[in-house]
Amino acid sequence: MKTEVEKHAVSEQTTSHLWNAMHKYNPDAQDMMAVSGKGSWFKDENGKEYLDGVSGLWCLNLGYGREEIADAAAEQMKKLTYFPLTMNHPPAVELAGKISQLLDADYQTFFSNSGSEANETAFKIARQYHNQTGNPGKYKFISRYRAYHGSTLGALSATAQANRRTKYDPGAPGFLHVYPPYSYRSVFEGSPEESDLKAAQMLEEMINWEGEETVAAVIMEPIISGGGVLVPSPKYIQRVAEICKEHNVLLIMDEVVAGYGRTGKMFGFMHAEGVQPDIVTMAKGLTSGYLPLGATSVKTEIYDAFKEAGKDKHFRHVSTYGGHPAACAVALKNIEIIEREHIVERVQKLGETKLAKLHQLQDHENVGEVRQKGFLVGIEMVTDKQSKTPIDEATMGEIVGRCKQKGLIIGKNGDTVPGQNNVIIIAPPLSSTEEDLDFVVETVESVIRSI
Ligand code: PLP
Repeated sequence: MKTEVEKHAVSEQTTSHLWNAMHKYNPDAQDMMAVSGKGSWFKDENGKEYLDGVSGLWCLNLGYGREEIADAAAEQMKKLTYFPLTMNHPPAVELAGKISQLLDADYQTFFSNSGSEANETAFKIARQYHNQTGNPGKYKFISRYRAYHGSTLGALSATAQANRRTKYDPGAPGFLHVYPPYSYRSVFEGSPEESDLKAAQMLEEMINWEGEETVAAVIMEPIISGGGVLVPSPKYIQRVAEICKEHNVLLIMDEVVAGYGRTGKMFGFMHAEGVQPDIVTMAKGLTSGYLPLGATSVKTEIYDAFKEAGKDKHFRHVSTYGGHPAACAVALKNIEIIEREHIVERVQKLGETKLAKLHQLQDHENVGEVRQKGFLVGIEMVTDKQSKTPIDEATMGEIVGRCKQKGLIIGKNGDTVPGQNNVIIIAPPLSSTEEDLDFVVETVESVIRSI
């Protein structure tokens, strides 16, 4: 048990020297200091417990404190501490094989350390692939407005969130952004599916207008998550996949958030029957956040283009820590547990029977739309249903703050596009108990009804 003085010393040291992510400077802020966690709950330094309704940064899919995952890391570190993937080590080889099996087709995987790096790797592979298959002019990438694809400059260039890029632009050349499938606020008329299909048509028009001979790939999440949980019609994903095929444009599926069960399928793209992306990027849920690991999996047809002999034909890319043996051992254990505990099926079922209750909020005058897939929920808050004016940031802060007071951490989209930081985000660990999920629903509902 820490003394009051020790506790204070830790907090002071942290606030004075640590540069927090996404933080507006506020010397008076009482920032959270978490010290331990078990299941879906963590404890702060004062002993108060919170249910982590956003799984850390949407990564802690199996929750806190799984000893068998920690043991897998420790055992691997003792056995083979490190080895570069310019050569092989067993956990990386085994994991690459397992990922291919989970993706349900033959994929070759390149490991890195994060989602941003997984996407950077995908961009380089896509450009080099086209270069080596007779299309050296294909270098452009298309992503959708409101999408987040990472913090490094290439991934940030694909990130079409104006406020994330303020003061860091210009981004890398060759990154284009197109209208997203966002039926709630779409300029396109018709049913959600019709409006989404028109968004897909815009994407095709962009490829035509740019000249398909210049477009390397489309990068998309199956559900734009950080940009406000925009759940498209499965037909949208199918149509985008078809368009990509018709124009020899690679489809990069960013499964950094959706992957490993979050939406009730092993990968989010699996909700769209018949779609098999050319490249799949993943991180977060791959290790449930126990250690950093990113992965870029490419169909073997693409990998084949890198097999040729000749100058500069191989992929000239390396990451010192990418595919670290301990991280791969953790990922293998994580996947073993996901399968053993039927996590994907569980998310599908409890998403429908528990979290779906949040749709009840749809009758509230400040709730514009509740969007949900599995354990990923977005609640779009508005001043009134008619005007759909986004609710102000102070009220959003109030909702998050009141949930926190009641012991529930929820998120909201931030720095997305000007004036539209109005979506509450809920993404609890996939292993949350039924009682945990009831607590999430009851707390969010009571707080929203109290504003
Ligand atoms: N792609 C998506 C969809 C993300 O949500 C994120 C992070 O939130 C990333 C990529 C970047 O991942 P990382 O923070 O591990 O670099």
